[in-house]
Amino acid sequence: MTGFSDSFQRPINYMRISVTDRCNLRCIYCMPAGGVDMVCHRDILSYEEIYTIVEAAAELGINKVRITGGEPLLRLGLPKLIEMLASIDAIDDISLTTNGILLASHAAELKSAGLQRVNVSLDTLKQDRFKVITRGAELNDVLEGIEVAKSVGLNPVKINTVVMSGINDDELLDFAVKTISDEWHVRFIELMPVAGGSTGNLLFVPMSESRQRLAVLGKLEPCLPGVGNGPAKYFRLPQAKGTIGFITPVSEHFCIHCNRLRLTADGKLRLCLLGEDEIDLREPVRSGISLVGLKRLLKEAVARKPLRHHLAEGRVPKGRPFSQVGG
Ligand code: SAM
Repeated sequence: MTGFSDSFQRPINYMRISVTDRCNLRCIYCMPAGGVDMVCHRDILSYEEIYTIVEAAAELGINKVRITGGEPLLRLGLPKLIEMLASIDAIDDISLTTNGILLASHAAELKSAGLQRVNVSLDTLKQDRFKVITRGAELNDVLEGIEVAKSVGLNPVKINTVVMSGINDDELLDFAVKTISDEWHVRFIELMPVAGGSTGNLLFVPMSESRQRLAVLGKLEPCLPGVGNGPAKYFRLPQAKGTIGFITPVSEHFCIHCNRLRLTADGKLRLCLLGEDEIDLREPVRSGISLVGLKRLLKEAVARKPLRHHLAEGRVPKGRPFSQVGG
């Protein structure tokens, strides 16, 4: 158990690191068609600055990091960062969340650098629909990325699917069947009304409804506790080697188990994805703050972590879009 905890005694051992606010997709629920204002290059943390922050966080109790974005595979030289983070003794789990478009060409190098696992965001198995949801990308690039990631040993590859009414909810069964036919590990995620997205909560499907629709495929057997270590609840269909996870940020928030911090690409520490409070770490790091000073700053920040978000009560965060805070 970590010695790092917030003011509600939640152990904090996980940091999500956004390495860029840029994305090569414009998913309808995440970004406006024209994109969002970009952070300028000099305001983005360098790999050395990220390393400094993670080194301090690791001394406090962070042992797990996930690289995200924007689209993290757009950041040049990412394997270098993975190598640097893997060299920190206390960091024993390094994973990545990607849209998969560039995964096929990067997977082997990332694996060699020390990346252990990858989550791929994929909301449809239909090419024409994929183009609509992502505003123009090619589904085959992602499918190839998934296969290459598996083949180089980035296992388990988890597929993150945001369920949207009238957009892809008729594919719930198709995704679920993939846990049997292709050993996919699929996680269905409730749509959150977030800043930047064009969907609000109009397309929201409660997870209870998604689960019900899967019933025709057989009984969902709960996986043993310990399968996955995040907010998803995992199940298995009869005969399936892969798993189905349900993530319910809106209908049944899991804030009481929140163990995470988020580092934005421009060096702000976010205490909650759906809160607006941010603590600047970039300027202190650029001004040469000591390791002790940085640890103190991190501890003070963690003490400000809110108990929960309030999406269910309709309180939607304003402020920065998901692509900038590392969804
Ligand atoms: N580009 C990477 C990717 O696509 O996985 C990482 C960043 S993306 C913002 C991270 C995750 O946030 C994706 O799985 C995406 O589906 C999810 N996401 C974005 N907007 C969301 C929303 N409004 N509701 C639920 N999930 C959302």
